[in-house]
Amino acid sequence: MKLLAIFGGTFDPVHLGHLSVAWEAAELLDAEVRLLPAGMPPHRDAPVASAAQRVAILRVALRGQSRLTLDTRELDRAGPSFTIDTLHELRAEQGERPLVLLIGADAFANLATWHRWRELFQAAHIGVLSRPGACVALPDELEREVAGRRVADTASLRALPSGKVIELAVTPLEISATRIRELLAAGRDPRYLLPGGLFDDPGLLAPYRH
Ligand code: ATP
Repeated sequence: MKLLAIFGGTFDPVHLGHLSVAWEAAELLDAEVRLLPAGMPPHRDAPVASAAQRVAILRVALRGQSRLTLDTRELDRAGPSFTIDTLHELRAEQGERPLVLLIGADAFANLATWHRWRELFQAAHIGVLSRPGACVALPDELEREVAGRRVADTASLRALPSGKVIELAVTPLEISATRIRELLAAGRDPRYLLPGGLFDDPGLLAPYRH
């Protein structure tokens, strides 16, 4: 059965860094990849754009291909979006199908601060996406949890529904939503850091222009 991978984030806004690493992960894993925008992220400030605005941007960004899809379930839930709850929901829907939680290397290094983080390994495999500037050494308690779980080949992910950790060496792209928000707020036009279609409708990026 095809792996199901999920890639969560605030996507405020989604940019070519997100799309490129998600695409490469889909190819490396031969997986269906779903992008899951977070409603109220527990770890950070509220997004600049509303959920509806971020979804509108995602829909345009994902046009013209079918390998990356959008899953808005976290936006429909009240309260903070905890990844563990999303994974339990997906597990109930998908049975024994192997699930892979995709996380950028910077976010993975902070995993031990996530709600019920040890349970994440029971619920899914984790695919760590390389990201420029992310620290390679993990905090001790995370390293201890991960040490026996590392695998190098995707076949090991197919054999079990959850529990393994794989490094996915994707093309490093130093693009962040923070930088894009700064550029837009300064009246700049970060055309080649975002999908071109976003510039066809001036309203889409309006929430970031002050
Ligand atoms: P911000 O700058 O607002 O923090 P961001 O660009 O890091 O945003 P998020 O929506 O917070 O984007 O990230 C969602 C996920 O995408 C995280 O797991 C993050 O590590 C990963 N990610 C974002 N940009 C990249 C990139 N350029 N390369 C690899 N992973 C990335």
